[in-house]
Order: sequence, then structure tokens, then C-alpha cells
Amino acid sequence: MTTYNFAAGPAMLPVEVIAQIKADLPDYKGSGMSVMEISHRSPLYMDLYEETKADMLEIMGLDPEKYDVLFLQGGATQQFTLVPLNQARKFHRIAVVDSGHWAQRAAEDAGKVPGMSVDTVATAKDNNYTAVPKIPVEFTHDYDYLHITTNNTIMGTAYRDAAVPKLDLPLVADMSSNFLGEQYDFSKFDLIYAGAQKNLAPAGLTVVVFKKDWVHKNDDLAGLFDYATEAKKKSALNTPPVFQVYVAGLVLKWIKSKGGLKGIEALNQEKAKTLYDCLEASDLFASKVDPASRSLMNVPFVTGDKELDQEFVKAAAAHHLLNLKGHRLVGGMRASIYNAMPLAGVQALCDFIQEFEDQHK
Ligand SMILES: *Cc1c(COP(=O)(O)O)cnc(C)c1O
Repeated sequence: MTTYNFAAGPAMLPVEVIAQIKADLPDYKGSGMSVMEISHRSPLYMDLYEETKADMLEIMGLDPEKYDVLFLQGGATQQFTLVPLNQARKFHRIAVVDSGHWAQRAAEDAGKVPGMSVDTVATAKDNNYTAVPKIPVEFTHDYDYLHITTNNTIMGTAYRDAAVPKLDLPLVADMSSNFLGEQYDFSKFDLIYAGAQKNLAPAGLTVVVFKKDWVHKNDDLAGLFDYATEAKKKSALNTPPVFQVYVAGLVLKWIKSKGGLKGIEALNQEKAKTLYDCLEASDLFASKVDPASRSLMNVPFVTGDKELDQEFVKAAAAHHLLNLKGHRLVGGMRASIYNAMPLAGVQALCDFIQEFEDQHK
């Protein structure tokens, strides 16, 4: 029986990518060394870095003359501090949209940067985070930027591209849990960051994509924390996570082989529809998320009975459907169905949901 991992992160990687890693691991491109051993100053890595960056921008439809990519460590969480530290320098005031837990963590950490004001300009508190709040386009103060979270990993809500307006204000997005999982007009964003461990690579890599003309060197920041310095040093001011960048490179090739973001989104739409349809058809299980705000990536659901939820998670694991326990903040179950989850995995989950329901009638 095939095992399917529904974890929110670290999450599944494509089986084809795992197979490629296995084949490459002892000897990277005939160097006699594993990719885990090669120097980040070697031409081998420089080629890998350039190709990975070029593939990423190509997939995103962004012009390499205008956009840059950083491959950093520290997770998306570190960007909660680094974005305001680098980019909130004129007004020292930023606007945030409160669409859920991670959006709140980002706002909280931004507020700890000395002298920084953080205004919540929209919140989903009123609907208990079951829908995303509308992104405002007019503001009563001057802000350095607006921060949004495109996919709310815990609540299971998301902004589709059409829900992201073109703003006069610079727009920053935490895309950790739907990065390269669906199409966006990425040119609407001035800076995007994402922890890799959900949809791109193993944990240990954080990607930052930004508009070059928005990012300037800050002499008061240590080089490691300064976007412009990192960009100038090709993300290798200190030792970068070479292995993670290599895996990200393989995942990007895999995305291209699926028809780029258009192809990937079609697959993800089909998977999500399959799962939401089976939850809607069920008398026992339900999704509480507003259909207009449904995430393609993270699908929380409940039976309404905590003990039964626990029983389901346990029984599912015995059927090789792993890590379906919901986040402690919302309880119940959560199926994370990122890019690497095949449709067969979602179908197996739906079959099991049906089976469990039949047994508990
Ligand atoms: C997982 C997650 C984070 C935290 O990521 P780390 O890389 O562990 O710091 C931040 N934002 C969102 C939306 C997430 O899903």
C-alpha cells in the first residue's frame, strides 16, 4: 500500500525528485563528490545557483533584469523581521492584513523592530478566519508597504490571484504554503518570501524574490541581514544551503515538466475539488471554510466530535494516510495537498473518509 504524507510541512516532495536525488547523491555531475560536499564557491554551485534562480523567475513569469532571488536560511519566520528591517525605512510604518495565525506572527515580529508601527488594516477575526478579508486599496496613513499572507496554512484559506489588487503601495507577501502552487500575476508583488519546506525543497531554505528597484543597501545592517548585500553576494555571503538549493532546482524542473504553473494549478485544482466534493457529500465530515476562500493546499475538516476526530486520524494512519491531525489552534483534521501530492493520494483519502463514515453511521 502506498503511503501518503499529508503533513503541512515539512511536506512531501515529488517521487520523481526523490528518485533523482538518490541517483545523484554519491557523485554530483561526475565531480566524484556528493552535492552535499561541494563548495559553495565552486563553478558547480555557481551554475546550480544561476540555473535555479533563472528557472524560478521563468516559472513565475518575472524578468530577471527586474527581479532577484535570494536563497537564505532562517525560515519564513526570520523574514517577519528582515522585511521591515530592510524595507520599512521611510515611514517606519507598515500595514498588515490579519488573515490568520502566520499573518499575526508576521505583524507581531514586525512590531518588535525598534521604532516600527504596525497597523492592521483588515482582519478576518469577525468570521473566525474562515474567509480571507478583502485587501484594502486605500489607506489613511503613509505606509512603507502592505503585508499579506497568500495562503493561510492553519485556517485553510487563501487569496486567489483575482483577490490580490494592484496597489500604489508596495506589496509584500508571505507565500510559504502556496509558493508555486498556483498562478499569480507575480508582478503585483514587490517582495515575496517563502519557507521551502512546504512546496519547494527540504527545510533549511528560504526564498526571497524581490523587485530590484525597491531594495537598496542598508549600511547599518549586518550583511547577512541586508537584502542588497546578499543579492550582490549571490546569496553566498556565508555558506548557503547547497543541498536544499539543489533539490529546489530539481523541483523547479519537475514543475516545468508539468506545464509550469498553469499545469500545476490545474492538477492542484483537480485535487482540491476532489477533496472538497467528498467533504461536501459527507454527512459526517465538513469543511468550515467559506467556499470563496478555500485553499488549494491546506484543507482543514472536522466531524464535530473531538474523540471521533482523533479516532479518524489514528485509523487513517493505519491505512498509510499520514499526518492528518489538525493544527492545535483549530483541532480536527487537516489534509495538506501540496504540489507533490498525487491525485491518487487525495482519492485514497476520500475513499477512506467514505469507509470511515460508513462504519460510523
Ligand atoms: C510554515 C509557515 C511559516 C513558518 O515557516 P518557517 O520556515 O518554519 O519559519 C510562515 N508562514 C506561513 C504562511 C507558513 O505556512
